[in-house]
Amino acid sequence: MQIISDQLRSGRKIIGFVPTMGFLHDGHASLIRKSKEQCDVTVVSIFVNPTQFAPNEDLESYPRDIESDKLLLRKNNVDFLFLPSAEEIYPPNFNTYVEVFGLTNKFEGEFRPTHFKGVTTIVAILCNIVKPHKTYFGQKDAQQACVIKKMIKDLQFDFDLVICPTVREPDGLAMSSRNAYLTNDDRQKALLLSQSLDEAKKLIDAGERNALIIVKKMNNNFIPEKSIHLNYISVVEVDSFSEADILEAGKSYFILIAAKVGKTRLIDNVLVHIK
Ligand code: AMP
Repeated sequence: MQIISDQLRSGRKIIGFVPTMGFLHDGHASLIRKSKEQCDVTVVSIFVNPTQFAPNEDLESYPRDIESDKLLLRKNNVDFLFLPSAEEIYPPNFNTYVEVFGLTNKFEGEFRPTHFKGVTTIVAILCNIVKPHKTYFGQKDAQQACVIKKMIKDLQFDFDLVICPTVREPDGLAMSSRNAYLTNDDRQKALLLSQSLDEAKKLIDAGERNALIIVKKMNNNFIPEKSIHLNYISVVEVDSFSEADILEAGKSYFILIAAKVGKTRLIDNVLVHIK
């Protein structure tokens, strides 16, 4: 892959890179389409990265279907699939990690304390191999994108990060490989996440500026739903992920939600701009 990337770069090709964990869906395809639009060559990696899963998490059961992934990649005219093995990426004496501090101890970092260290490490490794000019990440994982942005800035990585909007199912559920875990019943209940975000957005459109009131109203939706276990609901500033109190004109915020629906942990968010 490094040799291919060197050849592409010496041929003045702009390399776009979409890192994924596979079980691809239209959310991934939207990143690919954006890369195809902006770059000469698009590389997609599929690697279920063990270091971003804690021992009690779903590494073993994470959904995998490489043949249908390859079909999606072909359909979208992806130029290269980079499909390394865990042994190639993490040989027995591997002992170097990349860690962003501060941003990574709240929200997802609180519930998954070792997660972001694994994410930044694998993104650093993959980008040193693929040598992209531009990388594509989903707003679906907004905190992840923010952490990677900080890593790029602090470590002077020489590639751009492009954040693409969240792609949803027709009923509003954010697409996710983990949706495959949902039972029919859980799948229906999971709609409460995107519905609550919609409700919050409507409150803001109607003039509500108190983040506590917005969060409380969202929380109330979940009280009757015993099979949903909320992890957090919060309104944060887009760059710092610091919790907002009163929403200020001219600023942008993410409304974040994370919950366990049955046995499946889901996250979602919406971006709001205050006029
Ligand atoms: P994953 O395979 O889940 O690690 O995701 C790979 C990339 O796809 C990440 O940058 C995700 O944020 C992005 N992604 C996942 N789901 C969606 C979605 N529904 N819409 C847009 N991007 C997504």
